[in-house]
Amino acid sequence: MRPQDLLHPRPEGLYCPPGDFFIDPVRPVGRALITHGHSDHARAGHGHVLATRQTLDIMALRYGPDFAGARQAAAYGERIAAGGVSVTFHPAGHVLGSAQIAVEHGGTRIVASGDYKRAPDPTCAPFEPVRCDVFITEATFGLPVFTHPPASGEAAKLLRSVAHFPERTHLVGAYALGKAQRMIRLLREEGHDASIRIHGALAKLCDYYRSQGIDLGRLEPATVEVGSRQDAAGAIVVAPPSAFADRWARRFADPVSAFASGWMRIRQRVRQRGVELPLIVSDHCDWNELTATITETGAGEVWVTHGSEEATVRWCELAGIAARPLHLVGYEDEAE
Ligand SMILES: [Zn+2]
Repeated sequence: MRPQDLLHPRPEGLYCPPGDFFIDPVRPVGRALITHGHSDHARAGHGHVLATRQTLDIMALRYGPDFAGARQAAAYGERIAAGGVSVTFHPAGHVLGSAQIAVEHGGTRIVASGDYKRAPDPTCAPFEPVRCDVFITEATFGLPVFTHPPASGEAAKLLRSVAHFPERTHLVGAYALGKAQRMIRLLREEGHDASIRIHGALAKLCDYYRSQGIDLGRLEPATVEVGSRQDAAGAIVVAPPSAFADRWARRFADPVSAFASGWMRIRQRVRQRGVELPLIVSDHCDWNELTATITETGAGEVWVTHGSEEATVRWCELAGIAARPLHLVGYEDEAE
């Protein structure tokens, strides 16, 4: 069987004809396999959803219990028959519950990796390389300019700033699913025991991470009333980046604006966002991790989706690996 007969793009997303399912469809479909809970990959309204238990839980938290007609949980490594094909979910190291999906039929194995990273992350299972014929990779940071430093060093940088400016509030922009919990956990591992304030939009997901055994330490709501602004002096407040645009952020005294993202490597982005303290912490691979992973899968063919497709395709060709862009649309990179 030709790989493109096993999986190919359709307007709804990546489609598997012999299994009659889509992977991470961007429109409602009958049968969906979901790699992880970020809103550009996991959408509400499908007839049947197959995903890890944690991704199903996260979808229920975000969309309500009726987010799909029916659901089925896949354990990592469990072989599941989906229509006429066999699928297995493997850890992707991206956020809690994230998975690569291996699709096998007629002796051909394609791995759709969703979003993934190789750097250590104490809040989710580490990426597991899976040998395959075709590897489908994202390319969010698919340019050699992107090298992510160790995230622990970025957390330490934040704590040094807190020590230097004890009279100021440190406002840390971090996406609600994955990045926020990872930053909090990294701060704990760097020895920060004090209570961390969280924006209301993070509360449910932080509670869920804790229910899954991830110790986030003492958290309290960032609900300082105007008039007691000094109360947050010296505190670390974690909030989704969107919160910085509204009045919410103005309640804090002389805040230091920090932002945790792989894009903080780019000075122009730092300036555009008015970020005083850029923290280069990404839940995606950097260039070296991306290319090393492609090699590690042993794939003879690579299909590249969202991000810098051209550079990644070119790298593959120079390495003697057949490659092409997939041109899937609708993946908005919520997590970075
Ligand atoms: Zn993601």
